[in-house]
Amino acid sequence: MKAGEHLFGRLLGRTAGADHTPTASGLQVQLDSRGQVMGLSAALRAQLGPSTVGGTRPHLRQLLCAGSTLSIEGNPAEWQHQSLDLDFQGAAGQVLHTRGWVEPDADGWVLRLLDVGDLLEGRQLAQDREQNHQLACRMSQQLRVCSLGRLPEVFNEHLRSLSQRWRIPCVAVALLDEEDQGWRIYSQYAAHDAPALWQTGQRLGTRLDSLNGNAPLRLDTARGRSDNPRLHSVFGDADGVLVPYRDGQGVAAWLLCGFYRGQPHTHDQDWLDLAAALAGPLLSRLREQHHHQQLERVEALQGLLGTGWWELLPATDEIQLAPQLLHSLSLEDGPTRQPLALWLELIHPADRQELHSRLHDLQTLGRPLLTGVRLQRSDTAQNPIWYRVQGQVLGEGRQRRWVGFMLDISDIKNQQVQAAAAHARLDNLIASAPAVIYVQRYVSGALHPVFFSDSLLPLLGWTLADCDHEHLPALIHADDRDLYFERTRQLLREGSVRSRYRVRDSQGHYHWLLDEAKLLRDDLGIPVEAVGLWLDVTEATLAAERIQQSEERYRILVEDSPAMICRYRPDLTLTFGNTPLAHYLECQPAQLPGLNLGHWLSDEQRRAFVQRIGRLTPEFPVSTAEISLALPGREHAWWVWSDRGVFDAHGTLLEVQAVGRDNTEVRRSQQQLTQSAKMATLGEMATGLAHEINQPLNVMRMAIVNVLKRLGDGNAEVAYLTEKLQRIDAQVQRATRVVDHMRVFGRRSEIEQRPFDPAQAVEGTLALLSEGLRGKGVELRVTAPDVAVQVNGHVDQLEQVLINLMVNARDALSSQREKNPQLRPWIALHCEHDSRHVCLWVEDNAGGIDPRLLERIFEPFFTTKPIGVGTGLGLSVSYGIVENMGGRLSVVNGEQGARFCVELPVAQITR
Ligand code: ADP
Repeated sequence: MKAGEHLFGRLLGRTAGADHTPTASGLQVQLDSRGQVMGLSAALRAQLGPSTVGGTRPHLRQLLCAGSTLSIEGNPAEWQHQSLDLDFQGAAGQVLHTRGWVEPDADGWVLRLLDVGDLLEGRQLAQDREQNHQLACRMSQQLRVCSLGRLPEVFNEHLRSLSQRWRIPCVAVALLDEEDQGWRIYSQYAAHDAPALWQTGQRLGTRLDSLNGNAPLRLDTARGRSDNPRLHSVFGDADGVLVPYRDGQGVAAWLLCGFYRGQPHTHDQDWLDLAAALAGPLLSRLREQHHHQQLERVEALQGLLGTGWWELLPATDEIQLAPQLLHSLSLEDGPTRQPLALWLELIHPADRQELHSRLHDLQTLGRPLLTGVRLQRSDTAQNPIWYRVQGQVLGEGRQRRWVGFMLDISDIKNQQVQAAAAHARLDNLIASAPAVIYVQRYVSGALHPVFFSDSLLPLLGWTLADCDHEHLPALIHADDRDLYFERTRQLLREGSVRSRYRVRDSQGHYHWLLDEAKLLRDDLGIPVEAVGLWLDVTEATLAAERIQQSEERYRILVEDSPAMICRYRPDLTLTFGNTPLAHYLECQPAQLPGLNLGHWLSDEQRRAFVQRIGRLTPEFPVSTAEISLALPGREHAWWVWSDRGVFDAHGTLLEVQAVGRDNTEVRRSQQQLTQSAKMATLGEMATGLAHEINQPLNVMRMAIVNVLKRLGDGNAEVAYLTEKLQRIDAQVQRATRVVDHMRVFGRRSEIEQRPFDPAQAVEGTLALLSEGLRGKGVELRVTAPDVAVQVNGHVDQLEQVLINLMVNARDALSSQREKNPQLRPWIALHCEHDSRHVCLWVEDNAGGIDPRLLERIFEPFFTTKPIGVGTGLGLSVSYGIVENMGGRLSVVNGEQGARFCVELPVAQITR
């Protein structure tokens, strides 16, 4: 009851006068003292219906609704001075909300009532509106503060609350999509029992555009769809309300409520407020998000590009830089505001002043700034860091700002620099090269010259006009024209070509041009142009021709040379041989390759030959030797043979080139000479030899005379006779040895050298000479070699050398003794050797050789002896023999006489 008092009081105040005296038209109930209804005023009866009061008197309680706000206890007398809130059950099922009081009446009580239905409804409405308002505020608030990531979720949650609170089965918010300028469902909610009219993200196009955006639009199917036929496509057949939200630019959002009849008491303004509470913060958050993303993109872009904004702050003489810029300028630790001077310090001195002056122009004249600057950094001296600095004035008057950006353009700049350098190099190259670069454009199957590099003029004396499509073929040598046309066909067919032809220059001379061209095609594979290069190869071509000619000359030279020329592999297989060689080997030159040189060499010769070739090295690739061969159908041949090794990069012998000369004739005459000299020696030794033979003969004769004498005396004992006969036999043997040796010595030398012990020669010499020398009173001092060594050659020839030396010594001694009878002549012969050489010394005490003659004594026919005595051949022949054995014959004057040395290479040492 208390709750109603205030309202009641207000009502009373408002309705005082008018309703003070209840009339028949008022709502009145006559009651008896127990509260039973005695009658109803007409107005009340009209509301409660005639059946309300039947024959019996119902208690007032019975007229009230079940669960009425007031339960009536007691009787009317107790109700006095109280306000009664009573809800009557109306005839049409409605509830009649009343407030009343009882007054005593004539025969009972009268209950006067006022209809307070409207009042209550109004209050309810106000409460609802208040709650709605609060909810809207809360939603608005939450949308403002939630994280951007949760925004769609939170918003959808609010749509659900909205749907439940306002009992809207389908609710959605459509926003203007900036992309396609149409409307799009941002979020929607449909109650579980309602069909979803819309989908999140659904495009509504421009269907909402022409609607009145000032007030909610209601769709009521019952009342016909007069509003707008376009809405049919949005709402289908459903009823609904469409609420616009306007911002500065017009309608920015629509709140769509589907399957909703609308409650008449919801005011337009409430709808608009509700839409604003949702859409306002949503749009602002979306704008914030958009802005945020935009900012992120810009920052990422700045980071990626190595760029960043700057703004001049002239008031403090500072510059503010984007964080990215601070970072790339290596100022990361510093504040974003930097003194302008400090910033300028970062710029290379070469660009600093210009930048400063341009900044000044920007500030004072508003002239836009655009320049490229380098950074001042010691670590990047090679590749400087370049920035593009751009700036402009924003705003006017006092709002003016000076902003711009810096962009790292080092890559481009450095590429530019490199490209410029490469370009210059290329230009230089093209200009200085004996090459012409040309371009020929493809015109319906033909190639038309459209460009020649500048080198065309110095090379040929022509310009592009002289070498155009029409004239070019005429400049090509008549013999090469077909080549040129074929070159073009091949170029078009295969995409590239390389050919060589002659082109006439302006002087009328022909140049050999090497033409290399490539065809360029477009995306569809259709030829566009040919790019090519003319290289003047006249010199090279002529040189090649000359080489060919000279090769031919050399070939003829080799072929026609009287010398034998050949090439052979290390295994002695011939790979080439000229006609003279073929002639000696009795075959055709063509048959020579494949033959083996060793075939004509004795085993020993071949071994020595292969050994000699094996000693060739890249440092000492040449070796010369005399080789002896057994040629088909001929006597022994002697060739002087020069070999030159051909090696690969690793020093391995690949092939040998050899030149040979037939030395057989020379060899023969040499042999002849040696033989004659030998005979001469023998002749010369005749006296000595006679002595040598006379000696045993004397001994024998003495023996015989003595034996005969004994026999005559008659005392010839057997023992005596035997002793004498043995002596005779020994002397016969001795004479035989001498004669035998003379025969051997007088024989011609063998063809091939053999290893022998030089001691043999010493022995032979002494056999022939020792007796004779002793007979002449010459002392022989012989030291025999202690180790047996072998040398290569002919033992008789070495013997001849020794005989010559000893005979010369003997002669020198005898002439010396003529001058000095006191002289005690001696000849020493001794032998020395090391691992490589054997030396045979022949020394005498005849006073030596006149130093002025030392040089000449080996010359043939040089002699100091009287005519008819000396031949002057002894030493020269000896020299030849020793040289032939690979040794050396030399002489020095010793203390008492000449000292000859025969030095021979050791073939082997035998113990
Ligand atoms: P020939 O003995 O016929 O003169 P050689 O060629 O043998 O010819 O000797 C040449 C010359 O060398 C001799 O005439 C002599 O003058 C000189 N000669 C050679 N051997 C000796 C020697 N042992 N002492 C001095 N002179 C010598």
